[in-house]
Amino acid sequence: MLKLKALLTAYFQTGLTDKKYDDSNRRIYVVNLFSFVGMVITGLMSFNAFIQQDYLLALVLFIASIIYFSGYLLQKKTHNTVLSTAFILYSLIFLMIYLVYSGGVNNTGPLWIFIIPPVALFMHGLKRGVIDNLVFIVVISFIMFYQNGALLDTEYSFQFKTRLIYSYLTVTFLSSFYEFSRNRTYQYTLELSKKYELLAKLDPLTKLSNRRDALLLLEQEHSKQKRNPMNISLILCDVDKFKLINDTYGHNFGDKVLIQLAECFQNALREQDIISRWGGEEFLFILPETSLRDANILAEKIHRLVRNLQCQHDKTTIHITVSMGISELTATQRIRDAINIADKCLYQAKVSGRNQTISTLAE
Ligand code: GH3
Ligand code: MG
Ligand code: MG
Repeated sequence: MLKLKALLTAYFQTGLTDKKYDDSNRRIYVVNLFSFVGMVITGLMSFNAFIQQDYLLALVLFIASIIYFSGYLLQKKTHNTVLSTAFILYSLIFLMIYLVYSGGVNNTGPLWIFIIPPVALFMHGLKRGVIDNLVFIVVISFIMFYQNGALLDTEYSFQFKTRLIYSYLTVTFLSSFYEFSRNRTYQYTLELSKKYELLAKLDPLTKLSNRRDALLLLEQEHSKQKRNPMNISLILCDVDKFKLINDTYGHNFGDKVLIQLAECFQNALREQDIISRWGGEEFLFILPETSLRDANILAEKIHRLVRNLQCQHDKTTIHITVSMGISELTATQRIRDAINIADKCLYQAKVSGRNQTISTLAE
């Protein structure tokens, strides 16, 4: 029993990716599910037709069962859901046309056509699903009403045919409405979760990466470094006497200074560099492919830019300075240790008079 459950789970999950927000995962799942359901149901119907000695119907249903399984195999081999979806859906539509044409077992074949609206809408989405359904209804109406059933291999009463069309249209309408609401809810949830995921990574004041995100990104760079050796430098940057700025000009002005500084850092650094708000008035710069020497040159550039920063309070311009500590992260080192070294260098910069950078630990 447990083995059967594991087998079924593996079957339904074939080809699923780990992309959380990808609607294609839903399509892959739907292909696996419908190929399985289609294969089992047509297989059972084929067996039933065989017992009833309707050998042609039994053969058609048996072929349909194999086609559904082939749809699954196609998806597994090619990972192309467009192809496998079309394969399963259009073979289902052809089978339904055949059941309407032949009447199936004791003229009950047309009852199965109500599978098409949900399946087509599930697989092709709203627009194409509605088109598939309308084309299908036109085709079976033509077959059923053409010259009093000249295209049919069986006979249906006029009332049966008209009610079949009406009820099919009703099910199509309801299924379309359901797909429309599902899609709207899905899009809304998607937007919301993307928004919150972004918010969880960003510092609300400066819009820079927060400490948690910076650590994650640093871990990623460190893993890359272990595969392909490269220099990674870290700079810890702290605003000098920031408490005094807050106390003198107010907390709101302090906030504005932090925003201006964040913009200034973004202008100074390259695209691949990661700038984060490490905490309070402290920033961490993660510099991939940057030697200690280059990090020092960059630190000088930052000092220059900060010196020229125009922080206006009423009519006075306030001059800001920063102190920085630089360390190099090596492939064998722990991230925590490299940050500690930068922190100690920063402390040295502070005790040595501020507004400067130290990149090697003072003895
Ligand atoms: P030092 O040169 O030694 O770094 O002195 P400092 O005054 O900058 O350092 P200290 O750690 O004494 O003070 C940091 C101040 O930064 C205190 C805190 O209120 C302020 N601060 C932290 N986060 C924020 C913030 O988001 N907005 C504002 N306006 N101030 C902040
Ligand atoms: Mg400070
Ligand atoms: Mg500080």
